[in-house]
Amino acid sequence: MSSYIAENLKDINQNIKVNANRSGRELSDIVLIAVTKTVDEDKINEAIECGVTDIGENKPQEIVRKFEHIRGNVRWHLIGSLQTNKVKYIIDKVDLIHSLDREGLAKEIDKRAKAAGKVMDCLVQINISHEDTKHGLDESEVENFMRMVSSTCPNIRIRGLMGMAPFVENPEESRIYFKKIKEISLKIENLNMQGVYMDYLSMGMSNDYEIALQEGSNMVRIGTAIFGKRNYAV
Ligand SMILES: *Cc1c(COP(=O)(O)O)cnc(C)c1O
Repeated sequence: MSSYIAENLKDINQNIKVNANRSGRELSDIVLIAVTKTVDEDKINEAIECGVTDIGENKPQEIVRKFEHIRGNVRWHLIGSLQTNKVKYIIDKVDLIHSLDREGLAKEIDKRAKAAGKVMDCLVQINISHEDTKHGLDESEVENFMRMVSSTCPNIRIRGLMGMAPFVENPEESRIYFKKIKEISLKIENLNMQGVYMDYLSMGMSNDYEIALQEGSNMVRIGTAIFGKRNYAV
């Protein structure tokens, strides 16, 4: 067993603990999602042996391909943008969809979840930095979108928000974006909509998770810092 994964996880958990404590929380209040895109099954299973309980993929087809080869009882997260016609492949496999950002997608998830006899937990993705390349709803659209899901999609349960900071050299510059997402989450929570809960804030990746945790994140999505640089050629 190569030990770098174990070492990296140990360091990350320590960092999570320190930053969670800074905002009055415990390590156990934070969900660490190991982002396993392009990572092979052996390495993923190794991370699971080291205590990883949640894994995140950004492509439906990668979830389908790896699903049977992953040992242990883990939760699967779809963290990348989701095409409507791919929902059917993952509806029975994933525990949380982080990228709900449009009505057509909500309707499809609702329909497929109903057929599968489940209520699908989803996060609504926010586009806080207004970068064209990022998916997600604009802040001004969030409330209406939540109302639409709440009133027309009984097989979707919204569990919170997901957001990404823009890429910046200094992660400190991401702080204002995380703060803003937290504010939106509090605002939505106060509206008390049926089927809409704000118990998760999915923010923070390898380069900025410590800042995200300080600003209230309780779900971090970390790939590179666990598995090393991704090799997209494989
Ligand atoms: C790849 C990815 C991550 C993890 O990024 P790292 O920088 O490798 O930690 C997190 N979130 C999403 C949506 C991703 O696609």
